[in-house]
Amino acid sequence: MENKVRVRFAPSPTGPLHIGGVRTALYNYLFARQNGGEMILRIEDTDSNRFVPGAEDYINEALAWLGIKIDEGVRDGGEYGPYKQSERRDIYRHYVKELCDNGRAYVAFDTPEELEAKRKEMPNFQYDASTRGGMRNSLSLSQEETDRLLAEGATYVVRFKVEPGQDIEVDDLIRGKVVINSSILDDKVLYKSADDLPTYHLANIVDDHLMKITHVIRGEEWLPSAPLHVLLYEAFGWRDTMPQFVHLPLLLKPDGKGKLSKRDGDRLGFPVFPLEWHDPKSGEISSGYREAGYLPEAVINFLALLGWNPGDDREIMSMDELVRDFSFAHCSKSGAKFDFEKGKWFNHEYIMAKPDAELAELFKPVLEKNGVDVSSFSDEYIAKVVGLVKNRVSLLGELWANARFFFVAPTEYAEKDIKKRWKPEMPQIMRELIEVLKQVPDFSSKPCEEVVLAWIAEKGYHLGNVMNAFRLTVVGECKGPHMFDITEFIGRDETIARVSRGIENIRLADA
Ligand code: GLU
Repeated sequence: MENKVRVRFAPSPTGPLHIGGVRTALYNYLFARQNGGEMILRIEDTDSNRFVPGAEDYINEALAWLGIKIDEGVRDGGEYGPYKQSERRDIYRHYVKELCDNGRAYVAFDTPEELEAKRKEMPNFQYDASTRGGMRNSLSLSQEETDRLLAEGATYVVRFKVEPGQDIEVDDLIRGKVVINSSILDDKVLYKSADDLPTYHLANIVDDHLMKITHVIRGEEWLPSAPLHVLLYEAFGWRDTMPQFVHLPLLLKPDGKGKLSKRDGDRLGFPVFPLEWHDPKSGEISSGYREAGYLPEAVINFLALLGWNPGDDREIMSMDELVRDFSFAHCSKSGAKFDFEKGKWFNHEYIMAKPDAELAELFKPVLEKNGVDVSSFSDEYIAKVVGLVKNRVSLLGELWANARFFFVAPTEYAEKDIKKRWKPEMPQIMRELIEVLKQVPDFSSKPCEEVVLAWIAEKGYHLGNVMNAFRLTVVGECKGPHMFDITEFIGRDETIARVSRGIENIRLADA
């Protein structure tokens, strides 16, 4: 049991979970499931300045919507809690002290102003072996001075003492083995007395160790964090149980130029968040995949293939298939371009494959939002409508535009269609059509069509013009599924009512 795979998704609640974060969670989940392992959700809320209320709930809701199940975490419990870093202060204090006692870390008193002044003085200033002697810390000050400052309650940070000139070997399942020289690293801050909290680096390593994480699968830039983390594991004497690193390819902007950012979505007109997000401070609303009309299965499939491929030309893959076939060997090193159109394509495919009855349930809220009293239509009716129009939509919300006339009569008529199709003789022809419709023995699609077409032929009317005028009265525009499928659905009375309303109301706005 010792080697049981344990992975963690460790978001910081600094805002809504970004779609790149969702992909990281997904890869962790796939790997855990594939190996019969466990998936931990750890909330990394040590940056008190960047904490955003609601972000944690958002993370939980997003993962639940997508079907990414958590085995251990704040909500699910587990043996290794607490799973929220702000509740683990005692633990971190202990480990910070251990590093200080072993001479692997030291206390520094430099104020932000002093650090700023130093940066101005030395353009490439880095707090490290070459500069720390000239700063105010427990290595440069006398023991008495350090003790005095601490006794006075001076604000301090604890910095990691990076020994220069060491080769650090980093082994990553996707990137391979890389050797980095420690001289490029700075003496990272591990703890801040001001808020009695560790920084990300310390808390992350300590928790991965204590929570017995076997694989660290993360979406962040891997350098220079990974070598620093290796040094930290060494400093604690945990090198032997160090987790395997896996740094995922970055998600790039659609044009491949740079990292996909939270702002790209609104700039380019697609969501970069799983769920809609209402910013508690600015009140700003950012669109989400759920609200934009995506099926969670489609989002999962789309994200799975951003940076990974199954090694063959399969594209549509269920969660079970992904769990079975996922492998880091087929993850790319280079960034993955975020192809939003492809995302829409996936969604269309999933809409097509979903049973109509299930789609109907998802369509009901859309209907309600548009003022339709859903209870006045049977489930069967809604499902049949959805089945009739679904090949025309990529997003659930588009069902409304394509199916509204099955639920409400048009109140407006498309100007361009009126111009093209509503000839002066149309009111009269439509009146005749009403009489024909009244007489049709069987109002279902095929028989009704035969009667109407025979009447048009007999009268020598223009087939296209008459049928389009008919459509204009029933649908409101010259679009939609087969006309007689529509009339069968809405029935004789409603069809006739719409044609007569059309006769009265259709005219050009400027006429
Ligand atoms: N809290 C870090 C983040 O959200 C975690 C990175 C990691 O997986 O180690 O960026």
